Amino acid sequence: MKIGLVYDPIFLRHVPGAFHPERPERLTAIRERLEREDLSGLVEYLSPRRARREEILWNHSEAHYERVASTAGKASVQLDPDTATSEDSFEAALHAVGAQFEGLDEIFRENYRVVFCLVRPPGHHAEYDQAMGFCLFNNVALAAHYALRVLKFSRILIVDWDLHHGNGTQHAFYRRREVLYFSLHQFPYYPGTGRMEEVGREEGTGFTVNVPLPAGQGDVEYLAVFREILRPIALQYRPELILVSAGFDPHRNDPLGGMRLSAEGFGAMAEVIQEIAGETAEGRILLTLEGGYDLTGLAESVAEVIKVLSGHKRVEIRGEPSASFREYLRETRQFFSRYWSL
Ligand SMILES: [Zn+2]
Repeated sequence: MKIGLVYDPIFLRHVPGAFHPERPERLTAIRERLEREDLSGLVEYLSPRRARREEILWNHSEAHYERVASTAGKASVQLDPDTATSEDSFEAALHAVGAQFEGLDEIFRENYRVVFCLVRPPGHHAEYDQAMGFCLFNNVALAAHYALRVLKFSRILIVDWDLHHGNGTQHAFYRRREVLYFSLHQFPYYPGTGRMEEVGREEGTGFTVNVPLPAGQGDVEYLAVFREILRPIALQYRPELILVSAGFDPHRNDPLGGMRLSAEGFGAMAEVIQEIAGETAEGRILLTLEGGYDLTGLAESVAEVIKVLSGHKRVEIRGEPSASFREYLRETRQFFSRYWSL
């Protein structure tokens, strides 16, 4: 089955600054890679719609919406030390959110099992009342709200494999069990959240799962976390839909990150997610682009994920985690065994 790709040229018109790593060329590089012969038959392009104000307010304050809206038509507004806008950033951000809704509608209508939203700006750092870390509105959190409110799903798994912890997404569902947020991320690192002890509150306790990792981890370690922690928890949770905050900054060549993943490593993680989706969610997966700042590494990794999810490639990752990483995994499993049988 083909993969749906939601894309629009509006995403190139968000320009946070001349030397900003989160630049339009990221999407151009991905698009050029996907146009090559080996991938062109595996994907179909879809157009996003524009999210409405009342939809953005599912996850953000009116003050935040108005602040972002007020940047429209202005050459440059600094919203946070890392986050700036250009004339069309507000439009791009509304379409990045609308891309999620379009993708989910397509999955709901069974036109696609897997849709990948190739969007900018990214979303997972955006808080209820604050733009942050290159993010204006929280795309993946709004996708989850849409799936709960409009499509009436009742259990949604968010897997966040971006290098950074998705603070905004975690906070959006911290007290709810309808959304299980799973993140593995470099730690200690920006944004500073994502300790293992952050497990959710009230009825959401145990439905936030953070696996903080020291810098230097590669394919074998990420895959071990996916197989030995994510997979058993997800199969107990039994999500009806899986959302992926697909950041490619854990790639070994990424200028912002200290991880060592190869393109194949991302494919291997996608494969585990697809197995889980196949067992509990009728294969339904919506991925959305977050970070990833090395253009070649980003484009190759997206291509690999698409090859795997469209069934055109199986990945083989060889090797075993070190003894010290095995010990870390054992301790992590023990920690989460309070909430899940591991
Ligand atoms: Zn990131």
